[in-house]
Amino acid sequence: MKPLKATVAAATAVVLALTAAACGSDDGGGAGDGGDKITVGIKFDQPGLGLKTPDGKYTGFDIDVATYVAKELGFEPGDIEWKEAKSADRETLLQRGDVDFIAATYSINDERAKKVDFAGPYLLAHQDVLVRADDNSIKRPEDLNNKKLCSVTGSTSAQNVKDRIAPKAQLQEYGGYSECLTGLENRAVDALTTDDSILAGYAAQPEHQGKFKLGGFKLSNENYGIGVQKGSDLKNRINTALEKMVSDGSWDEAVKKNFGPANYKNEPAPKIGNIVK
Ligand code: GLU
Repeated sequence: MKPLKATVAAATAVVLALTAAACGSDDGGGAGDGGDKITVGIKFDQPGLGLKTPDGKYTGFDIDVATYVAKELGFEPGDIEWKEAKSADRETLLQRGDVDFIAATYSINDERAKKVDFAGPYLLAHQDVLVRADDNSIKRPEDLNNKKLCSVTGSTSAQNVKDRIAPKAQLQEYGGYSECLTGLENRAVDALTTDDSILAGYAAQPEHQGKFKLGGFKLSNENYGIGVQKGSDLKNRINTALEKMVSDGSWDEAVKKNFGPANYKNEPAPKIGNIVK
């Protein structure tokens, strides 16, 4: 990956050159020509948010937000290289410059903000639990104590469980959400905890119909931001893009398209810089 600053500069140069060459020049020029790419970190296993489908396509709200932002930065969809950004890897991916930005259900918090910068927020979600449909033993958050609870390493959800939600739960931390889901299905764990936005997507998958239910607990506020390298000038440019995405109706469209099928009742679009504690 070339550093984004260089690629944006190169893209601008291409546009200027084409403009100078003027009429008749049709080499299909544009921001993406000449191998200019932007690398975006996303989740691969979250239906409705960030999902890599078996035929190699990428779908979800985070994908649509990232695609919109990339376009505003001068990159066509075909210029985007998608890279998996598991929860525990996100800060490192940004710090090493392996990705230009991350849109991966990435909650803004103080700990992370020491290492990376965040544009946004662009969505407000809440931590919840997913249990098997036939399990009536988890009615309140306290019921999670002594239960086998799955969460993902490096997520705010895992940290919240340990810190305050159910310190006596038997927390099992897996590397990804799909592993937790398999564990829940085959009864290796009793519940899966993460953001309601993510859980709604799992519950609604055709192969999971009738198998799982959400607790509806609203255990936290998860303000999704777009992660960038500390000090990057991308932060302001991405904020401008996010504001435009809301004001031109694209945000609403992406919400309907991606959360509609899971019947996820999302919060209204957050104001940029307004983090709900
Ligand atoms: N939004 C939470 C977080 O950033 C949970 C989802 C995730 O792991 O991506 O940790």
